[in-house]
Amino acid sequence: MSYEAVIGLEVHAQLLTESKIFCGCSTRFGAAPNQHTCPVCLGLPGVLPVLNKKVVDFALRAALATHCTITPTSRWARKNYFYPDLPKGYQISMYELPIAEHGYVEVPALRTGSGQALRLGSGQAPEQAKKVRLTRIHMEEDAGKSIHDAEAGASLVDLNRTGVPLLEIVSEPDIRSAAEAGSYLRSLRALLQYIEVCDGNMEEGSLRCDANVSIRPRGSTEFGTRTETKNLNSFRAVEKAIEHEIQRQTEVVEAGRRVVQETRLWDADREVTRPMRSKEFAHDYRYFPDPDLLPLVVDRAWVERVRADLPELPAARRARFRRDYDLPAYDAEVLTARKDVADYFEASLRACPAAPKVVSNWVMDSVLRFVKEEKLDAALKIETWPCPPERLGALIGLIQDGVISTTIAKTVYEDMRRTGQAPEEIIASKGLRQVSDTDILQAAIAEVLTANPDKVEAYRGGKEKLLGFFVGQVMRATQGKANPQLVNTLLRQKLAQ
Ligand code: ADP
Ligand code: MG
Ligand code: ZN
Repeated sequence: MSYEAVIGLEVHAQLLTESKIFCGCSTRFGAAPNQHTCPVCLGLPGVLPVLNKKVVDFALRAALATHCTITPTSRWARKNYFYPDLPKGYQISMYELPIAEHGYVEVPALRTGSGQALRLGSGQAPEQAKKVRLTRIHMEEDAGKSIHDAEAGASLVDLNRTGVPLLEIVSEPDIRSAAEAGSYLRSLRALLQYIEVCDGNMEEGSLRCDANVSIRPRGSTEFGTRTETKNLNSFRAVEKAIEHEIQRQTEVVEAGRRVVQETRLWDADREVTRPMRSKEFAHDYRYFPDPDLLPLVVDRAWVERVRADLPELPAARRARFRRDYDLPAYDAEVLTARKDVADYFEASLRACPAAPKVVSNWVMDSVLRFVKEEKLDAALKIETWPCPPERLGALIGLIQDGVISTTIAKTVYEDMRRTGQAPEEIIASKGLRQVSDTDILQAAIAEVLTANPDKVEAYRGGKEKLLGFFVGQVMRATQGKANPQLVNTLLRQKLAQ
């Protein structure tokens, strides 16, 4: 029997507002424990929450970017449970009336070609572009953090995170493989980064994901029993945990047993999921409307203000890159996967407008490879990349103008990265200008031919493949500075004599 996986993801995205959702405390990461707290986020008696309007702006941005329908009047709800890092004993969230519903995220088709600098997914991504539908988006407050300190033999509570605004983004069970889940999550992260509502840093916990997984016989239209796996704090963890869960459930079913509906935890060290709590012990959160907060009314004017302020989104940018710059689908895909990379590409291109495909190759092959090798990826700070885009554009312009060859350009680029110098400076100080002087090239060619009489004879006898050898020798004799096209032409002439 062959099985198909059915997957739905619940994503929590920490919003980049400066202050918390219901009080004025700072959301900044990394302060000393319990410094960013006040009576409201400490849950002291007698205080009242005041909604941060910016959080709603951000939620609306995300809702519009994911094609959701916005609820004109939504409602805050209390989700009741006890935990030491939840001082009020309830979390303010949204339940039956979330701010947005029925959207979708486009997950692009991506062929992972060999030798490409940036692989956007592990394993295969969907062959065809696909829409993963969203059930809902709602806002809620984050809980604090419990720190289990083995040395102190105690658990400590840090409430700096209490009240930091989150978006919960729930997908329909539209995803069919671990790789597709990864692609979906990457697309969603790119969107949130594009609209600048979340930094998308999974390692720091600003993007968190729970994976709901079930399997069913291929061809069946009914859903199987699902498990929900928590504690997934990297793309790798999401994909590995889903793969593991599909495998585990398949074994359970094939052994004639039933999958138990339960919450499981990902054990990243052993790469397995472990049961955390079964349905019997599932929380009953006793949701009810929060009496401290008014219903949230979002009128048309508000929505339109937010819409007018949205930047160009990845799908539109991808289409424009293909149309205006005539780039292949793959290039457009890779370049627009991150807003900062797309910006970098366009800034480079402004310095060298005639050659979009060449600029694209450079950004994909050199820049992204370097970013990946140096693990700058997570930092997402393109301003700190060692080679500003104008300089890369200038370098490529020098190739286009025949000042240097592509091979020399690669070494110049390495120097630009290391020293921060401009390409012209490096070329001048190292004497790297391309040699197009016919006399100099003729002399070099004559020397090479004199040194290899047997090969000259073989070439003239019909072994024309030897041309490559001669070009190589001339390039070497000129330390790679000879203009390769010119060397080719001159060599052919000379050998034909
Ligand atoms: P809960 O409130 O218990 O988490 P939801 O109805 O909100 O339940 O669903 C949570 C997630 O589970 C959603 O992303 C949804 O797409 C996914 N899901 C629902 N049913 C299944 C299923 N049979 N297999 C896999 N995922 C599922
Ligand atoms: Mg859930
Ligand atoms: Zn506070």
